[in-house]
Amino acid sequence: MRTEKKLIGVGRPLPAVIRFHLHEREDTGREFIGLGAALAQDGLIQDAPQVLRRSIEDPSVLELSCTFQDRTAIRGWQRTRSLRSWLTRLRTGLLAAPEVVLVRDVEFDVDDIRTCACRHRRSLFVQPGPTWDRAGSGIACGVCRGRLPAYCIPARSQILCWCYAYSRVFDIWYRSDVLEAWSEEQLSDLESHLKIEGRNRCGALERSMRMPVHLCVFRVEQDPLARCPECGGGLDPVEMNFPRQRCLDCRLAF
Ligand SMILES: [Zn+2]
Ligand SMILES: [Zn+2]
Repeated sequence: MRTEKKLIGVGRPLPAVIRFHLHEREDTGREFIGLGAALAQDGLIQDAPQVLRRSIEDPSVLELSCTFQDRTAIRGWQRTRSLRSWLTRLRTGLLAAPEVVLVRDVEFDVDDIRTCACRHRRSLFVQPGPTWDRAGSGIACGVCRGRLPAYCIPARSQILCWCYAYSRVFDIWYRSDVLEAWSEEQLSDLESHLKIEGRNRCGALERSMRMPVHLCVFRVEQDPLARCPECGGGLDPVEMNFPRQRCLDCRLAF
């Protein structure tokens, strides 16, 4: 039990300000526009809220207010490969390295997305959901159920593009009566175009992460299943709320 506990860690979102010291107070700082979006794209910070402004106390400092996904993101954001080109570009316009200041004295409206900080992950759940449920959907660690920030996922665009498409189809099913039958079929039918594509990409993720990756399957009914709908075999119970069962052979979770 002790060893098991040691393996589990959970990262919490951290509101912060990144301070960029410009050479001149007359610098427009225009080259910083889009940096927040790039950080969010890499899963280092949350999508929103995110504000870039000139410091009130010191006009030669630009401040990007944002919420880092976790402590690891703060430690490593300048080393992320896709940001290197940004930083090389930015360094020439800065007096000093960017500085991250944690914000502790204000209440922030942050999504409480807990990230996985386990030292050894053993399996993953690809758990896509609607666009408004950012804390409950995404790629989750099979041990702690914390979300995996995008920066931990190799070749992430493959699986993240699919999750993006899935979330939009889910929104259509939930919010609109237009295309309702089509969207329900795409979400729940194991042979739908969306599902087949998702399973292929989960397979690729499994190979790159070298651990079992289970795709969570949408079901309108919430009652437990007696058998796996794909292979007819028995299902393995999962400890936390959702998903509650998984088929180890088919890599599906319900
Ligand atoms: Zn974990
Ligand atoms: Zn099965």
